[in-house]
Amino acid sequence: MKARSGSRSGRCFMGGPRITTDAERAAMTCTRCRAVLVTEEVRRNLHVCPECECHLPVSAAERIAQLLDAGTFAERHAELRPTDPLRFDDGRPYLERIKAEQERTGLPEAAVVGEGLIQGIRVVLGLVDSGFLRGSMGSVVGEKLTRAIEEATGRKLPLVLVTSSAGARMHEGVLSLMQMAKIAAALGRHHAAGGFCLGVLTDPSIGGVAGFAFLSDIVLAEPRAMVGFIGPRVHAQVTHLRLPEGVQTSEFALQHGFIDRIVPRRELRERIAQLLGYLTDPS
Ligand SMILES: [Zn+2]
Repeated sequence: MKARSGSRSGRCFMGGPRITTDAERAAMTCTRCRAVLVTEEVRRNLHVCPECECHLPVSAAERIAQLLDAGTFAERHAELRPTDPLRFDDGRPYLERIKAEQERTGLPEAAVVGEGLIQGIRVVLGLVDSGFLRGSMGSVVGEKLTRAIEEATGRKLPLVLVTSSAGARMHEGVLSLMQMAKIAAALGRHHAAGGFCLGVLTDPSIGGVAGFAFLSDIVLAEPRAMVGFIGPRVHAQVTHLRLPEGVQTSEFALQHGFIDRIVPRRELRERIAQLLGYLTDPS
């Protein structure tokens, strides 16, 4: 819905009256339609814009609350922390940047893994939060996801992977690029052992972090999620070509057979439970 105060047009703060800090916290702007929205109402609507149905970013904690049965999530490997093998500094030392992200998000890293129940069915869940350094995949993200996959394999549990990332974490150089291979190998062993994996692509799912979700047995995606090998800006810089409109969307991926179904966020938990139910109760 549109904000009822603080904006005369109800569409955009730009050019409107100055608002207080509390008002800024209470309201937000949809990144697609620019409608000014009441933050609490957006949260209750699972962070889907009620004006244009844009599926806005969701934090790891909110995603877990949306998908799992209340109070059933048990996190694993939260103690893992990144190091700085390259002593990377792009104007700000890498570890200083990590510390700032940890303080801002309350997360130790971009990936969160653990186990819990979805409508009573036990799963291993791995997800990436794009709010932490754009969900980029460094050594810790790769290691957490690999351990989650291996736990699912060892305990013969279904695996659910939810991606939201801009790609590899260049601060860790080749160590970052190795993570996709490590995860792919673990998923290969999971499949060879008869394990099931369900991937969910959310906005944005770019690069290697989208790649491992594509290795799932069933690939779902949220509507209009950006899905692709590289983002449009990097693609334009490298190829000097402009991609046709809509190429890097979940709708395009569905049309060309790369994913199995687009599922709106409000149906996602139900749909995942239904698919898991086919595994656990073939009748
Ligand atoms: Zn909107």
